[in-house]
Amino acid sequence: MDFTRTEPARGSQTCGYQMQVGSWQNDGHRFCADRKARGKYFCNERHQEVLDTYGEIRMAPGNAIGK
Ligand SMILES: [Zn+2]
Repeated sequence: MDFTRTEPARGSQTCGYQMQVGSWQNDGHRFCADRKARGKYFCNERHQEVLDTYGEIRMAPGNAIGK
């Protein structure tokens, strides 16, 4: 799995799922840098993770869906 330390644009095709919240204990934010899955807000892996965790996918307006 790839990750980036800067949050990808909501309208981009990058998953951008926040995997780690920055604090004094670690080295900062990490966002998933995989491509969004077709028709989904996240890559397949994170999409399933969010569904398992929250039971639904809720996204703010302006978030692009994978092409
Ligand atoms: Zn992802």
